[in-house]
Amino acid sequence: MLAATMGRRPHVLIIPFPAQGHVTPLMKFAYQISDHGIKVTFVNSDFIHEKLVAALPDEDEARSRIGLASIPDGLGPGEDRKDPLKSTDSILRVMPGHLKELIEKVNNSNDDEKITCVIADTTVGWALEVAEKMGIESVAFCPCGPGTLALVFDIPRLIEAGHVNGSLLNEELICLAKDIPAFSSNRLPWGCPSDLTVQEILFRLALQCIPAKNLSNWLLCNSVYELDSSACDLIPNILPIGPLLASNHLGHYTGNFWPEDSTCIGWLDKQPAGSVIYVAFGSLAILSQNQFNELALGIELVGRPFLWVVRSDFTNGSAAEYPDGFIERVAEHGKIVSWAPQEKVLAHPSVACFLSHCGWNSTMDGIGIGVPFLCWPYFADQFHNQSYICDKWKVGLGLNPDENGFISRHEIKKKIEMLVSDDGIKANAEKLKEMARKSVIEGGSSYKNFQTFVEALKQ
Ligand code: UDP
Repeated sequence: MLAATMGRRPHVLIIPFPAQGHVTPLMKFAYQISDHGIKVTFVNSDFIHEKLVAALPDEDEARSRIGLASIPDGLGPGEDRKDPLKSTDSILRVMPGHLKELIEKVNNSNDDEKITCVIADTTVGWALEVAEKMGIESVAFCPCGPGTLALVFDIPRLIEAGHVNGSLLNEELICLAKDIPAFSSNRLPWGCPSDLTVQEILFRLALQCIPAKNLSNWLLCNSVYELDSSACDLIPNILPIGPLLASNHLGHYTGNFWPEDSTCIGWLDKQPAGSVIYVAFGSLAILSQNQFNELALGIELVGRPFLWVVRSDFTNGSAAEYPDGFIERVAEHGKIVSWAPQEKVLAHPSVACFLSHCGWNSTMDGIGIGVPFLCWPYFADQFHNQSYICDKWKVGLGLNPDENGFISRHEIKKKIEMLVSDDGIKANAEKLKEMARKSVIEGGSSYKNFQTFVEALKQ
């Protein structure tokens, strides 16, 4: 039984790590459980809360269905949250105390609204500890794939065996099971080859996930058992409930930090079926100005229609500058937006393929919707996700950088052309889409897992 107090409507507090790729799946999940009559309070840092509220769509459905609350992250309004060291230190230092205060405030204000369960992102393991100390049921939610989580849970053993200390200490591959792509030194889920400080912080965040293994009886995950049964079998309490798609719940709110530019849907309507290359790198990946230019010239060279998400901080944190004359030359067949309604875009019949950084959420979006991938991983688990996409599931191709890590326009053109004419990859993508669809409908594995969880919440 999860609900701590009999007879009351369950009230769940959900807390993600303050980043888009963590807020999105938990917000989708929040909607799914609220569809089942469960009261949800979604807690962000004040900074993220403000972004969310500023980007809320007009209909403002989120506020009426989900309680949005916030707590300080310990940094002042003008302080640099892009400094990962400073922000993670601050989060760890101040957020647990504020979370405890928030729960006490809610629980003291109304007996019927007491928080019965805390669902925390595995990277905020401290929130599970807060809940446990307060005698509240805690549930972990993993925003990455089961293969990544299995490796993270194995870190203590890997450290003891002298394999890992943040980096891989020898050239030996880490093989967790036959069907899980092996982890190499450039495929570690906390890897950031371009910035070793970030890598160290990602490793610390990975360590934060480990308590979830024992602190919670339930470990929810945005995946499908059949997609990765070997990794799921390594994690005793895992409950795959994915793919979490906004289209599977009432309403479409996904907790975006930036307003979605919906004009791209009207633009897609005008493009031929199966013609458009959708290019999006999630919320954090950045390219050098040079690599950005080359990507622009690569997708221009293909000559197909394209929809490209270029965030305002996409090129080394500042506004991108396009190659000379690019915007004029592609005006007829290219559309650039600063944030797209990604699921709706991927589900549009005009879209042919997804040039993606392979963040786990984007991976689940593409798998659930059946779109072939062209993989351009940037950091963290994205390299390993690429291995799943290309080597295990065979629903995509990777781009080969040159010896300096640079991806040329010719490589981009070549791989896009190979991808869109590869019927085997398209058929595999369709097969996985069907598998994912079946998993979330009555009788499917994710459906059953979700029902089991919701029923337990209600008891
Ligand atoms: N996304 C979106 N619009 C965009 C780009 C991304 O809605 O233009 C969403 C996408 O559906 C996914 C999330 O943002 O849910 C990005 O998460 P992911 O794990 O793919 O990457 P991250 O941002 O964590 O690197």
